[in-house]
Amino acid sequence: MSGSQNEKSFSYEDFVGGIESFQEKYQNEINEKEYFGFPLKPILAAEERLYRKSIPSIAYFSMEYGLAPSIYNSFQLKKPLSEQNKFYQHEVFSNHWLCDYIFRVEINKLLDIPIYGGGLGVLAGDTLKSVADLGFSLVGIGILWGKGYFKQNFWYKHGQVPEELQWDPWTYPGLIPLKNIVTFNTKEGPIYLRVWKYYVYSFDKKQAMPLILLDSNLPQNKEYFRQLTGQLYRSDNAWWKIIQRTILGIGGMKSLDSLGYSIDRYHLNEGHAAFAILEKYMQLSDKNNLEPIRNNFIFTCHTPVAAGHDRFAISDVANVLEPHYVQAAEMFGKESYQSGEINLTYMALNNCNKVNAVAQKHGEVMRIQFPGYAQKIQAITNGVHAYTWSSDSFQKLFDKYKASIGDWDKNPCCLENVRKLSKDAQFRKDLFDAHQVNKRNLLSLIRRWQLRDDVFTICWARRIANYKRPALVLHKIEHLIELAREVGPIQIIMAGKAHPNDNIGGVRIDEIFDQIDKLNHYKEIIRVLILENYDTYFGKLLTNSVDVWLNNPLPPFEASGTSGMKAIINGVLQMTTSDGWVVEAENDDIGWIFGYRHQGTDIGSESDLRLDEDSDALYDVLEQAMRLYYQTIKNGRINCETAWIDKMINCIAKSAFFNTHRMVEEYNAKMWQTARER
Ligand SMILES: *Cc1c(COP(=O)(O)O)cnc(C)c1O
Repeated sequence: MSGSQNEKSFSYEDFVGGIESFQEKYQNEINEKEYFGFPLKPILAAEERLYRKSIPSIAYFSMEYGLAPSIYNSFQLKKPLSEQNKFYQHEVFSNHWLCDYIFRVEINKLLDIPIYGGGLGVLAGDTLKSVADLGFSLVGIGILWGKGYFKQNFWYKHGQVPEELQWDPWTYPGLIPLKNIVTFNTKEGPIYLRVWKYYVYSFDKKQAMPLILLDSNLPQNKEYFRQLTGQLYRSDNAWWKIIQRTILGIGGMKSLDSLGYSIDRYHLNEGHAAFAILEKYMQLSDKNNLEPIRNNFIFTCHTPVAAGHDRFAISDVANVLEPHYVQAAEMFGKESYQSGEINLTYMALNNCNKVNAVAQKHGEVMRIQFPGYAQKIQAITNGVHAYTWSSDSFQKLFDKYKASIGDWDKNPCCLENVRKLSKDAQFRKDLFDAHQVNKRNLLSLIRRWQLRDDVFTICWARRIANYKRPALVLHKIEHLIELAREVGPIQIIMAGKAHPNDNIGGVRIDEIFDQIDKLNHYKEIIRVLILENYDTYFGKLLTNSVDVWLNNPLPPFEASGTSGMKAIINGVLQMTTSDGWVVEAENDDIGWIFGYRHQGTDIGSESDLRLDEDSDALYDVLEQAMRLYYQTIKNGRINCETAWIDKMINCIAKSAFFNTHRMVEEYNAKMWQTARER
């Protein structure tokens, strides 16, 4: 459909007419009523809105999307799921090592579309879900990573060995190839990109929004160009990194034109997509008036420190892009006049009037790092999609108490109302029971390792990065043993992937393995497990089932963090340093806050990890938490009058704020400023 037809309605025929190989491959899955088992109507409505000039629309660019279709928006296939698109077996490394050799964790489910690496992607995915819930006219743009991120193997129990991941987009439920092929020139010839579509539905399936995914694996491309959209974040040199960012930014803008969408705002989720600005510039008829760029580009910065931002030598950029693009990049993307580098963060800061950090604390840190832009840096705290991350048992609980709580699924902000139930003995009991259901659900998956549902269980699971201090809880195991002897047994569950090029991250995994090994003789009082291949499925399972969620980044290096938000909506208590989103919940008694606090205008060093003093602080709060836990549940007897249950209620009440429903409303109020049509 072309732009000139933009006030015409978008029909079923228009829709299937645009799909590549529709007759051969998709006519069983898509018809006038249904799209992979979901209603088709919301898709046609969403497409139509994007064509209409009278409705303000937004294009949202992100390098990665964690959509978690195994737990939300699970499309159906008439034919069986292909083997390549299923989950694997997962190994476990534990101090009950005999089990590790005999057993695996088996999950026979749809593989999540492997186009994300971690929290940034999960946030992008949750954003799209809330956009669908709230009915904004928005299209997402990303890359179809043909080999995903990577698959983690605990090879012979010696640590992490990355392996290429295989999956099949052509048989993945809900994913469709369009006939549209976009192209642009690089220094090494033209690149062709197939446009794919995926749809994200609202929780009630009444609304939907499209996601465009670009794919260079086409016969028209020369051989090595076909690999450009292979692996996410696995580019080892500048050329490769730059061209991938070009595909997202320039290819993304071209795909919007190819589809004929009428777009008013361009939202860059992180600096990766900043080359979109150059493409917009090329389209301007009056190159002296940059207002159409400045007023309509929006930038969300997720990176806490300057070293983490994308920077490329101008000569490297000139090896990828044609000269007029390089000139524009120099004009827009330098940190200072003298600089010989293009910095994508500066390109975004220079050209977007609206910029946001992802938590209040991150806003402070960003203003310290970019004083020249302090005026325009706003803070909009991240969130999670409540419907995706709340467990079945908690959804049932919230539904049972709907009269007091309200329509939490339509608007999670009403979860604040659980406070009204804090003196209701039946609610307190139901709440703890719902938690135990989740805990037993996790324990049944790892039943071979014989964990118990009345033993204090704590989890650390996230990307393995040095500043997140993955091994902190195992730093002084003699303290841990003492605690287990004096207060009661402990179960510790861990998971996380280190970026394959991150050598320090790999060392951290080895350290965890070594420490776990040292606890072999203590398995009756301390049971420690690390699970292979942390992903969104495990992310949901772990955040909703353990008693305490551990989060111990070195302040102020965690821009926001979101896994704790997934935990609080399920009443899981927080044990955390004061950083990222947590700073905004310091006084709400959602668990235990410990360790080093960042103050002042000196950011400090990311490598000064403060492991000794902060692990001591951690063991102190661990003791408090364990004592309270064993007052609440002991030998199967439960006491729902303790402060533990109050803290669980405080957690749920805070999730009224830390969700993407509130975040997307804030994006609109402060950044997009568009009207919405529902
Ligand atoms: C939520 C999530 C993250 C983000 O966790 P942080 O605590 O923000 O680091 C990373 N990976 C997966 C798979 C997740 O589900």
